[in-house]
Amino acid sequence: MVARHDQTTDPVLLDGLLQARRGTAFFARKLNELTDAELDGDSLLPGWTRRHVVAHVGYNARAVARLVEWAATGVETPMYPSVEIRHHEIDFGATLSPIALRNLFDHSAVHLNVEWRDLPADNWHHKVKTVQGRVVPAEETVWMRTREVWVHAVDLANGATFKDIPAPVVERLLMDITGAWHARGTDKDLVVKVTGQPSALVFGDTAADSPTVVSGSLAAIAQWATGRGTDGTTAERDGGPVTPAPPAPAWI
Ligand code: ZN
Repeated sequence: MVARHDQTTDPVLLDGLLQARRGTAFFARKLNELTDAELDGDSLLPGWTRRHVVAHVGYNARAVARLVEWAATGVETPMYPSVEIRHHEIDFGATLSPIALRNLFDHSAVHLNVEWRDLPADNWHHKVKTVQGRVVPAEETVWMRTREVWVHAVDLANGATFKDIPAPVVERLLMDITGAWHARGTDKDLVVKVTGQPSALVFGDTAADSPTVVSGSLAAIAQWATGRGTDGTTAERDGGPVTPAPPAPAWI
């Protein structure tokens, strides 16, 4: 008989699973608020309708589930056979009927959750490979999915904002993004400051002589850093304002 509860007892992992499940529920809520006709509308992502976002999030759950299956069985199953197939899948998914599109999201989310729930405690440490080629423990699949559901719920463009995303999720997202900039050296002369925090969060090229400093609340900085607009941010250089704030370096 299959257990009805998570096999892992690791508190950090269980907390992560909770954020992923909350994010999935949040995405579902924003999706369910949209009428079938509204699915044809634009998302926040250039060139993508809301249909593309829903298809992408559905296929992402399937791809993440393939990594969890890999960790469970030891049989290598990549997220996607190729980048081309990943793109084709999204374009195809966007043409599905509204009911099929909604089912894709629901069923893929349930399937992924079952794979997580039934993964034996030890197998969470098994190594799998992300679409970017990073080798990570299966535990990482939880964060990979968490990021997707929360941020793409905002991309549905029907009222969700980065303020709706739990602060620990946004903070980790910012660490990911600024870490990627740093690794690529694309954050030269750029400092990012999160204001309104008990202790200020500062990222970027903090050793630069006269950096452009972009400041804002956690939500505003995350929105800007993910390339989703400059609302709520201010920028300055050598004591003078820079308007508007420069676009953030590419994230993905
Ligand atoms: Zn995505």
